[in-house]
Amino acid sequence: MMTKAAQRSAEGRPQPLLEVDGLRKHFPIRRGVFSRTVGHVYAVDGISFHIDPGETLGMVGESGCGKTTAGKTVLKLIEPTAGTIKLRGKEITGLDPDSMRPLRREMQIIYQDPYSSLNPRMSAGNIVGEPLTIHNVALGKEKEERVAALFERVGLRPHQMASYPHEFSGGQRQRIGIARALALSPSLIVGDEPVSALDVSIQAQVINLLMELQDEYNLSYLFIAHDLAVVEHISHRIAVMYLGKIVELTDRQSLFEMPLHPYTEALLAAVPIPDPKAKRRERIILTGDVPSPVTPPPGCHFHTRCPYAMDRCKTEVPELRKIQPGHWVSCHLHDSGPMFPLARPRNAGRSID
Ligand code: SF4
Repeated sequence: MMTKAAQRSAEGRPQPLLEVDGLRKHFPIRRGVFSRTVGHVYAVDGISFHIDPGETLGMVGESGCGKTTAGKTVLKLIEPTAGTIKLRGKEITGLDPDSMRPLRREMQIIYQDPYSSLNPRMSAGNIVGEPLTIHNVALGKEKEERVAALFERVGLRPHQMASYPHEFSGGQRQRIGIARALALSPSLIVGDEPVSALDVSIQAQVINLLMELQDEYNLSYLFIAHDLAVVEHISHRIAVMYLGKIVELTDRQSLFEMPLHPYTEALLAAVPIPDPKAKRRERIILTGDVPSPVTPPPGCHFHTRCPYAMDRCKTEVPELRKIQPGHWVSCHLHDSGPMFPLARPRNAGRSID
């Protein structure tokens, strides 16, 4: 049987930088003196995707949907429960910390909160230069010159290397985080809500910087956010997550112009339209909170909030299927082909368990 990599090269597509297949991360819940496992948090529950060199995959969903756990598991900062992760075709899932060490240089992370992710007792120069020391890449004068160049590249001044995190604004602190992530010339950067803590005006500057750096260094990004408006500008493709699963995955234009999953439709309804003459999206209010990932609803996890839910949605799990080229959706509404715009089937009705 032809492997996925062989199929891709036969189709003339480049080998993906990252391939994730059936990734799961279930955290055990332990109770009692003997720490017996009494349940699991199904944080990430069987997700598959790839990221090509120089590509940005946006990953979107409400708080608690598992996107941050997915990002950390891909980087092996958290060990997966099941599934495979391949970097340039090489499986890294089972590698021990020593074997992972050289690969750590290739995969970096930018955290959400530039206030708490930087060590307040280290100068900005030492924060950015620390990975060069840890990986024995550059020391002394050479390290200083490299750090100064990184400062300039992210829009900071080299004389600011001696300053401490509290002396910088929020946007500048995030630039320090970006310079640190760039220090080891990575191929993949996971941005875990990297602009969510910033003012809207600063968000655009940081996103533009990330896009410039991507063009310059052919970087790949997994860009995690809870807001579709944030990932719209930077993403080539977007994966929408709900309760540990990817429910829709496609290119940016298709997702914004032809959302096929009711959850994506609801997230899009909350995105402001900049052109006042453009047709307004129907306002869709999602009722209720995201259910607990400890006891996800049976069938389609979204059925307790879905305005299109049918009886079968309560029991039958919809598979993530290719509905049209490059467009993957998990929803029973499209069992006989893509339905757009979404329309309520006759037996649909709000289904509250
Ligand atoms: Fe809604 Fe059913 Fe589709 Fe789930 S499978 S999103 S409940 S219509």
